[in-house]
Amino acid sequence: MSTPTLMPACLYIVATPIGNLSDMTPHAIDTLKQVAIIACEDTRTSGRLLAHFGIDTKGSKNNNDDETVGKDDSITPDNKKGHNKLWAYHEHNSAIQTPKIIEMIQEGHSVALISDAGTPLVSDPGYQLVQAAHAAGVAVSPIVGASAAIAALSVAGLPSDRFSFIGFLNAKTHGRQKQLTALKTRPETLIFYEAPHRIVASLKDMAEVFGTNRGVTFCRELTKTFETVHKSTLGALIEFVQADDNQQRGEMVVVVAGDNAVQDDDDISIHDALLQRLLIDLSVKKAAALAADITGVKKNALYQRLLELQAE
Ligand code: SAM
Repeated sequence: MSTPTLMPACLYIVATPIGNLSDMTPHAIDTLKQVAIIACEDTRTSGRLLAHFGIDTKGSKNNNDDETVGKDDSITPDNKKGHNKLWAYHEHNSAIQTPKIIEMIQEGHSVALISDAGTPLVSDPGYQLVQAAHAAGVAVSPIVGASAAIAALSVAGLPSDRFSFIGFLNAKTHGRQKQLTALKTRPETLIFYEAPHRIVASLKDMAEVFGTNRGVTFCRELTKTFETVHKSTLGALIEFVQADDNQQRGEMVVVVAGDNAVQDDDDISIHDALLQRLLIDLSVKKAAALAADITGVKKNALYQRLLELQAE
Protein backbone atom coordinates (compact mmCIF):
# COMPACT_ATOMS: atom_id res chain seq x y z
CA MET A 1 0.00 0.00 0.00
CA SER A 2 1.36 3.43 -0.84
CA THR A 3 1.99 6.06 1.84
CA PRO A 4 -1.01 8.39 1.94
CA THR A 5 -0.13 11.95 1.05
CA LEU A 6 -1.61 14.90 2.85
CA MET A 7 -4.56 16.86 1.57
CA PRO A 8 -3.99 20.53 0.71
CA ALA A 9 -3.09 22.49 3.85
CA CYS A 10 -5.21 21.21 6.68
CA LEU A 11 -5.43 20.97 10.45
CA TYR A 12 -5.04 17.32 11.46
CA ILE A 13 -6.31 16.24 14.88
CA VAL A 14 -4.10 13.23 15.58
CA ALA A 15 -4.75 10.62 18.28
CA THR A 16 -1.74 9.07 20.03
CA PRO A 17 -1.61 6.01 22.35
CA ILE A 18 -2.98 6.08 25.93
CA GLY A 19 -0.29 3.71 27.18
CA ASN A 20 0.78 0.97 24.81
CA LEU A 21 2.91 2.52 22.07
CA SER A 22 1.87 -0.24 19.66
CA ASP A 23 -1.47 1.56 19.47
CA MET A 24 0.11 4.36 17.43
CA THR A 25 -1.34 4.03 13.94
CA PRO A 26 0.71 4.10 10.72
CA HIS A 27 -1.63 6.87 9.54
CA ALA A 28 -0.71 9.01 12.57
CA ILE A 29 3.03 8.44 12.02
CA ASP A 30 2.81 9.31 8.29
CA THR A 31 0.80 12.44 9.03
CA LEU A 32 3.13 13.64 11.78
CA LYS A 33 6.13 13.10 9.49
CA GLN A 34 4.59 15.12 6.69
CA VAL A 35 3.09 18.16 8.44
CA ALA A 36 5.05 21.41 8.79
CA ILE A 37 4.11 21.94 12.44
CA ILE A 38 3.09 19.64 15.28
CA ALA A 39 1.23 21.52 18.02
CA CYS A 40 1.39 19.67 21.34
CA GLU A 41 0.59 20.20 25.01
CA ASP A 42 4.05 19.46 26.33
CA THR A 43 7.05 19.55 24.01
CA ARG A 44 9.08 17.21 26.26
CA THR A 45 6.40 14.51 26.48
CA SER A 46 5.58 14.65 22.78
CA GLY A 47 9.25 14.98 21.82
CA ARG A 48 9.91 11.57 23.40
CA LEU A 49 6.91 9.99 21.67
CA LEU A 50 7.85 11.41 18.28
CA ALA A 51 11.49 10.36 18.66
CA HIS A 52 10.32 6.80 19.40
CA PHE A 53 8.60 6.73 16.01
CA GLY A 54 11.49 8.40 14.16
CA ILE A 55 9.53 11.60 13.54
CA ASP A 56 12.07 14.38 13.15
CA THR A 57 11.14 17.63 14.92
CA LYS A 58 14.42 19.53 14.84
CA GLY A 59 15.34 22.20 12.34
CA SER A 60 18.29 24.57 11.95
CA LYS A 61 16.54 27.34 13.88
CA ASN A 62 15.15 26.23 17.19
CA ASN A 63 13.36 28.87 19.19
CA ASN A 64 10.62 26.69 20.62
CA ASP A 65 12.62 24.07 22.43
CA ASP A 66 12.28 23.14 26.06
CA GLU A 67 14.58 25.93 27.25
CA THR A 68 12.50 28.64 25.62
CA VAL A 69 9.07 27.27 26.46
CA GLY A 70 7.62 29.53 29.09
CA LYS A 71 9.59 32.60 27.93
CA ASP A 72 8.28 32.64 24.38
CA ASP A 73 6.80 29.36 23.37
CA SER A 74 5.24 30.78 20.25
CA ILE A 75 6.69 30.77 16.78
CA THR A 76 6.37 33.76 14.53
CA PRO A 77 5.28 33.08 10.95
CA ASP A 78 8.71 34.12 9.60
CA ASN A 79 10.24 31.15 11.37
CA LYS A 80 8.34 28.66 9.24
CA LYS A 81 11.38 27.26 7.51
CA GLY A 82 14.11 25.50 9.43
CA HIS A 83 12.43 25.81 12.81
CA ASN A 84 11.68 23.27 15.42
CA LYS A 85 8.45 21.83 14.09
CA LEU A 86 7.14 21.15 17.60
CA TRP A 87 5.02 24.03 18.92
CA ALA A 88 3.67 24.23 22.44
CA TYR A 89 -0.12 24.55 22.44
CA HIS A 90 -1.84 24.45 25.80
CA GLU A 91 -4.49 26.09 27.95
CA HIS A 92 -2.24 29.03 28.83
CA ASN A 93 -1.05 30.01 25.34
CA SER A 94 -3.94 28.91 23.11
CA ALA A 95 -5.19 32.48 22.63
CA ILE A 96 -1.77 33.50 21.23
CA GLN A 97 -1.05 30.31 19.29
CA THR A 98 -4.45 29.80 17.66
CA PRO A 99 -4.25 32.71 15.16
CA LYS A 100 -0.61 31.85 14.36
CA ILE A 101 -1.49 28.26 13.57
CA ILE A 102 -4.46 29.31 11.42
CA GLU A 103 -2.22 31.73 9.55
CA MET A 104 0.33 28.96 8.90
CA ILE A 105 -2.37 26.75 7.40
CA GLN A 106 -3.76 29.58 5.29
CA GLU A 107 -0.25 30.06 3.91
CA GLY A 108 -0.23 26.45 2.78
CA HIS A 109 1.44 24.58 5.68
CA SER A 110 -0.38 21.64 7.23
CA VAL A 111 -0.46 21.45 11.01
CA ALA A 112 -1.13 18.50 13.32
CA LEU A 113 -2.48 18.82 16.85
CA ILE A 114 -1.61 16.10 19.36
CA SER A 115 -2.07 15.91 23.12
CA ASP A 116 0.00 14.14 25.78
CA ALA A 117 -2.03 10.96 25.21
CA GLY A 118 -5.16 9.81 23.44
CA THR A 119 -7.45 11.97 21.36
CA PRO A 120 -6.98 15.75 21.49
CA LEU A 121 -9.99 17.78 22.72
CA VAL A 122 -11.20 14.89 24.92
CA SER A 123 -10.42 16.53 28.31
CA ASP A 124 -7.48 18.07 26.46
CA PRO A 125 -6.74 21.36 24.67
CA GLY A 126 -7.78 22.03 21.08
CA TYR A 127 -11.39 23.21 21.05
CA GLN A 128 -10.45 26.84 20.49
CA LEU A 129 -8.15 25.89 17.60
CA VAL A 130 -10.69 23.65 15.85
CA GLN A 131 -13.39 26.29 16.30
CA ALA A 132 -11.08 28.94 14.81
CA ALA A 133 -10.21 26.64 11.88
CA HIS A 134 -13.89 26.22 11.02
CA ALA A 135 -14.47 29.96 11.35
CA ALA A 136 -11.55 30.63 8.97
CA GLY A 137 -12.74 28.04 6.44
CA VAL A 138 -9.67 25.86 7.12
CA ALA A 139 -10.13 22.11 6.59
CA VAL A 140 -9.99 19.93 9.73
CA SER A 141 -9.40 16.19 9.51
CA PRO A 142 -9.26 13.53 12.28
CA ILE A 143 -6.51 10.92 12.36
CA VAL A 144 -8.30 8.50 14.65
CA GLY A 145 -6.93 6.34 17.46
CA ALA A 146 -7.21 5.69 21.19
CA SER A 147 -9.30 7.52 23.74
CA ALA A 148 -9.49 6.29 27.35
CA ALA A 149 -13.23 7.05 27.55
CA ILE A 150 -14.16 4.82 24.62
CA ALA A 151 -11.65 2.13 25.60
CA ALA A 152 -13.23 2.00 29.08
CA LEU A 153 -16.78 1.94 27.71
CA SER A 154 -15.86 -0.92 25.41
CA VAL A 155 -14.85 -3.16 28.34
CA ALA A 156 -17.24 -1.89 31.03
CA GLY A 157 -20.04 -4.38 30.42
CA LEU A 158 -22.58 -1.59 30.95
CA PRO A 159 -25.21 -0.42 28.47
CA SER A 160 -23.37 1.32 25.65
CA ASP A 161 -26.24 2.28 23.37
CA ARG A 162 -26.44 5.64 25.14
CA PHE A 163 -23.71 7.21 27.25
CA SER A 164 -22.49 10.59 28.44
CA PHE A 165 -18.87 11.58 28.77
CA ILE A 166 -18.57 13.71 31.91
CA GLY A 167 -14.77 13.93 32.12
CA PHE A 168 -13.21 15.27 35.33
CA LEU A 169 -15.48 16.18 38.22
CA ASN A 170 -14.92 19.26 40.34
CA ALA A 171 -11.88 18.90 42.60
CA LYS A 172 -13.82 20.04 45.69
CA THR A 173 -16.37 17.88 47.51
CA HIS A 174 -19.16 20.46 47.46
CA GLY A 175 -18.84 21.15 43.72
CA ARG A 176 -18.48 17.44 42.97
CA GLN A 177 -21.60 16.50 44.91
CA LYS A 178 -23.55 19.24 43.14
CA GLN A 179 -22.47 17.89 39.74
CA LEU A 180 -23.28 14.33 40.76
CA THR A 181 -26.72 15.32 42.05
CA ALA A 182 -27.50 16.79 38.63
CA LEU A 183 -26.50 13.44 37.07
CA LYS A 184 -28.27 11.18 39.56
CA THR A 185 -31.34 10.30 37.50
CA ARG A 186 -29.70 10.25 34.10
CA PRO A 187 -30.62 6.89 32.50
CA GLU A 188 -27.53 6.55 30.31
CA THR A 189 -24.10 5.18 31.24
CA LEU A 190 -21.81 7.91 32.62
CA ILE A 191 -18.07 8.08 31.92
CA PHE A 192 -15.81 9.93 34.37
CA TYR A 193 -12.07 10.62 34.32
CA GLU A 194 -10.48 10.88 37.75
CA ALA A 195 -7.07 11.68 39.19
CA PRO A 196 -5.53 9.03 41.49
CA HIS A 197 -5.32 11.31 44.54
CA ARG A 198 -9.05 12.03 44.33
CA ILE A 199 -10.38 8.59 43.41
CA VAL A 200 -11.48 7.49 46.89
CA ALA A 201 -13.15 10.81 47.70
CA SER A 202 -14.93 10.85 44.34
CA LEU A 203 -16.15 7.26 44.65
CA LYS A 204 -17.47 8.05 48.13
CA ASP A 205 -19.37 11.05 46.77
CA MET A 206 -20.75 8.92 43.92
CA ALA A 207 -21.90 6.26 46.39
CA GLU A 208 -23.52 8.92 48.56
CA VAL A 209 -25.39 10.52 45.67
CA PHE A 210 -26.10 7.53 43.37
CA GLY A 211 -26.39 4.87 46.12
CA THR A 212 -23.96 2.09 47.03
CA ASN A 213 -25.77 -0.44 44.80
CA ARG A 214 -25.24 1.49 41.56
CA GLY A 215 -23.24 -0.57 39.04
CA VAL A 216 -19.77 0.66 38.11
CA THR A 217 -16.71 -0.50 36.20
CA PHE A 218 -13.31 0.77 37.28
CA CYS A 219 -10.79 0.92 34.40
CA ARG A 220 -7.22 1.71 35.38
CA GLU A 221 -3.97 1.86 33.39
CA LEU A 222 -5.73 0.69 30.22
CA THR A 223 -3.44 -0.86 27.61
CA LYS A 224 -0.53 -0.79 30.12
CA THR A 225 1.21 -3.58 32.03
CA PHE A 226 -0.82 -3.31 35.25
CA GLU A 227 -4.23 -2.83 33.69
CA THR A 228 -7.33 -3.20 35.90
CA VAL A 229 -10.89 -3.71 34.62
CA HIS A 230 -13.10 -4.32 37.67
CA LYS A 231 -16.91 -4.51 37.45
CA SER A 232 -18.65 -3.93 40.75
CA THR A 233 -21.05 -1.71 42.66
CA LEU A 234 -20.02 1.66 44.04
CA GLY A 235 -20.08 0.38 47.64
CA ALA A 236 -17.91 -2.65 46.87
CA LEU A 237 -15.58 -0.67 44.60
CA ILE A 238 -14.69 1.73 47.42
CA GLU A 239 -13.58 -1.27 49.52
CA PHE A 240 -11.64 -2.74 46.56
CA VAL A 241 -9.76 0.50 45.88
CA GLN A 242 -9.10 1.25 49.54
CA ALA A 243 -7.77 -2.25 50.19
CA ASP A 244 -4.99 -1.95 47.60
CA ASP A 245 -2.84 1.18 47.28
CA ASN A 246 -1.91 0.16 43.73
CA GLN A 247 -5.52 0.75 42.71
CA GLN A 248 -5.08 4.37 43.77
CA ARG A 249 -2.20 4.92 41.35
CA GLY A 250 -1.97 5.63 37.63
CA GLU A 251 -4.66 6.74 35.22
CA MET A 252 -8.29 5.80 35.69
CA VAL A 253 -11.74 5.94 34.15
CA VAL A 254 -14.89 5.26 36.18
CA VAL A 255 -17.85 4.05 34.12
CA VAL A 256 -21.09 4.28 36.10
CA ALA A 257 -24.40 2.63 35.17
CA GLY A 258 -27.25 5.00 34.47
CA ASP A 259 -30.21 5.26 36.81
CA ASN A 260 -32.26 2.05 36.66
CA ALA A 261 -29.95 0.53 34.07
CA VAL A 262 -30.49 -3.19 33.76
CA GLN A 263 -27.08 -4.79 34.18
CA ASP A 264 -27.78 -8.25 35.40
CA ASP A 265 -30.43 -10.38 37.07
CA ASP A 266 -29.59 -9.11 40.54
CA ASP A 267 -30.27 -5.50 39.67
CA ILE A 268 -33.73 -6.09 38.33
CA SER A 269 -34.71 -7.80 41.58
CA ILE A 270 -34.56 -4.31 43.16
CA HIS A 271 -38.02 -3.84 41.63
CA ASP A 272 -39.46 -7.16 42.88
CA ALA A 273 -41.74 -5.59 45.50
CA LEU A 274 -43.35 -3.38 42.87
CA LEU A 275 -43.71 -6.25 40.40
CA GLN A 276 -45.26 -8.55 43.01
CA ARG A 277 -47.84 -5.89 43.89
CA LEU A 278 -48.71 -5.27 40.25
CA LEU A 279 -49.13 -9.00 39.64
CA ILE A 280 -51.97 -9.12 42.17
CA ASP A 281 -54.20 -6.92 39.97
CA LEU A 282 -52.73 -7.12 36.49
CA SER A 283 -51.72 -9.58 33.78
CA VAL A 284 -47.98 -10.09 33.25
CA LYS A 285 -48.14 -8.05 30.05
CA LYS A 286 -49.93 -5.09 31.64
CA ALA A 287 -47.73 -5.25 34.75
CA ALA A 288 -44.58 -5.21 32.59
CA ALA A 289 -45.82 -2.17 30.62
CA LEU A 290 -46.79 -0.25 33.75
CA ALA A 291 -43.55 -1.14 35.60
CA ALA A 292 -41.49 -0.07 32.56
CA ASP A 293 -43.26 3.31 32.63
CA ILE A 294 -42.60 3.71 36.34
CA THR A 295 -38.99 2.49 36.52
CA GLY A 296 -37.56 3.20 33.06
CA VAL A 297 -36.31 -0.41 32.93
CA LYS A 298 -36.78 -2.23 29.61
CA LYS A 299 -40.21 -3.91 29.31
CA ASN A 300 -38.80 -7.23 28.08
CA ALA A 301 -36.52 -7.56 31.10
CA LEU A 302 -39.42 -6.81 33.46
CA TYR A 303 -41.67 -9.25 31.59
CA GLN A 304 -39.14 -12.06 32.11
CA ARG A 305 -38.79 -11.21 35.80
CA LEU A 306 -42.58 -11.14 36.24
CA LEU A 307 -42.81 -14.64 34.74
CA GLU A 308 -40.18 -15.83 37.23
CA LEU A 309 -42.02 -14.23 40.16
CA GLN A 310 -45.32 -15.72 39.02
CA ALA A 311 -43.76 -19.21 38.92
CA GLU A 312 -42.29 -18.90 42.44
N1 SAM B 1 -7.29 12.89 25.61
C1 SAM B 1 -7.22 11.74 26.47
C2 SAM B 1 -8.15 10.65 25.93
O1 SAM B 1 -8.47 10.67 24.75
O2 SAM B 1 -8.53 9.76 26.66
C3 SAM B 1 -7.56 12.08 27.91
C4 SAM B 1 -6.68 13.13 28.51
S1 SAM B 1 -7.06 13.50 30.16
C5 SAM B 1 -6.03 14.88 30.45
C6 SAM B 1 -6.21 12.25 31.05
C7 SAM B 1 -7.16 11.31 31.76
O3 SAM B 1 -7.61 10.31 30.86
C8 SAM B 1 -6.52 10.54 32.90
O4 SAM B 1 -6.50 11.27 34.11
C9 SAM B 1 -7.44 9.34 33.00
O5 SAM B 1 -8.62 9.67 33.67
C10 SAM B 1 -7.75 9.09 31.52
N2 SAM B 1 -6.76 8.15 30.94
C11 SAM B 1 -5.79 8.43 30.06
N3 SAM B 1 -5.09 7.32 29.77
C12 SAM B 1 -5.64 6.31 30.48
C13 SAM B 1 -5.36 4.91 30.61
N4 SAM B 1 -4.36 4.35 29.96
N5 SAM B 1 -6.14 4.18 31.44
C14 SAM B 1 -7.15 4.75 32.12
N6 SAM B 1 -7.44 6.07 32.04
C15 SAM B 1 -6.71 6.83 31.23
